[in-house]
Amino acid sequence: MSSHPTSALMISVSGIRGVIGSALTPGNALDFVQAYATYLKQNNLKPTILLARDTRPSGDMMRHATIAGLMASGCKIVDLGIVSTPTLQFAIPRLGADGAICITASHNPVEWNALKFFQPSGMYLDRAQGGEVIRLYNEKNFACGSWADMGSLETDESSIEAHLEKIMSLVDVEKIRARRFQVVLDGCCGAGATISPLLLERLGCDVTVINGELTGIFPHNPEPLNENLGQLANAVKMHGADIGFAHDADADRVAIATDGGELIGEDYSLVWAVAHVLKNRRKGPVVTNLSTTRAVETLAEKYGVECFRTPVGDANVSGKMLDIGAAIGGEGNGGVIWPEMQLGRDGIAAIALMLEFLAVEGKTASQIDGELPRYAILKTTHEFPKERVPQLIQWLKSKEKNATVDERDGLRLSFSDGTWIHVRSSGTEPIVRLILEAETREKALRVQKTFAEEIESLAGAW
Ligand code: MG
Repeated sequence: MSSHPTSALMISVSGIRGVIGSALTPGNALDFVQAYATYLKQNNLKPTILLARDTRPSGDMMRHATIAGLMASGCKIVDLGIVSTPTLQFAIPRLGADGAICITASHNPVEWNALKFFQPSGMYLDRAQGGEVIRLYNEKNFACGSWADMGSLETDESSIEAHLEKIMSLVDVEKIRARRFQVVLDGCCGAGATISPLLLERLGCDVTVINGELTGIFPHNPEPLNENLGQLANAVKMHGADIGFAHDADADRVAIATDGGELIGEDYSLVWAVAHVLKNRRKGPVVTNLSTTRAVETLAEKYGVECFRTPVGDANVSGKMLDIGAAIGGEGNGGVIWPEMQLGRDGIAAIALMLEFLAVEGKTASQIDGELPRYAILKTTHEFPKERVPQLIQWLKSKEKNATVDERDGLRLSFSDGTWIHVRSSGTEPIVRLILEAETREKALRVQKTFAEEIESLAGAW
């Protein structure tokens, strides 16, 4: 297991990511921004591009590099300031923008930052669009205006209020208010702290905010995994709260602590959302990625709807949701995609959905949790040479003859007893991710041990 240190800039179809000062510099940020602007200018000579950032101390430097690139390329920039990624995404179609850039490294620690690029619909760039931006970045032949063709910069402070109003219009506010929930929110000193406390107040909750300062100095690793949320669990216990929520640094994700402070795991935010929407709001197909708990499928079966799986990534899941008119979807990383709100992970809207679930059912969080299907999921990373991953996949496939095979994103093997394993290569680092799930934790640990040993022995075998 490792968290491999990396000095390389990570380039993907949704943007670039790197450690500030080594991989990610104002220079390569500016180039990538100009590549995106050049791409947008193929259809519109003066595109309007929204800009937002999370709270990281490097955000303002990245903002200036981004603004320089967009102005040089003749874009009209509308800066929303420090807001969550879903707040930015919701603003894109509302303000009729041609695209948007979010400066956030999401769940990554403070030394990282990133640029994420969006479509006019508010969705992330898809594979073809992002591929075109990468091609333009590599070509370095950017649209660059003369003195007479400079872009412009303005600010807009309406985005948080607009996002809140939309969420409030979708849920049963009176029912939620009537419960007067005691809620603890861990804002992780990130962008979610700009909006989620306001939402909870408007929903009539008695709110305790921890890590609500917008410093970007994260008090714990911002990925909302159980191991990072001890502070939330303790605060829920100490305040006797009904429920606790934690965001990552840009609040597209949310994780739940039940009354009593039990952390239910980031996969179960989606499980809650699926259970509530299918039971109480709208029956329709469900979409999730190949790495997410099969509790989602169990619920889809229970309510007689189809469940589709896609490769990992918001753009893959939301793209499929759009195609089939899904009722609900998302990823097992705390990312709930609720299409009535928007086709992107929205950790803030997800909070309203969870509270509505409690209110409609008239139950406590631990009662709800106890009634939902639960399996034991384990996620680890293992060092593995990138060029040998295809051999690893072939080997695992040939060995596990009884499994159903899915090779759309690495290798996913599922077995008749419900156990499944998913082996994925990191796009950028010499590691493979092993995600697996079984009926019981004991069994999951046994399966994990077998596969981890095989991966590790193969890592050194060639
Ligand atoms: Mg995030």
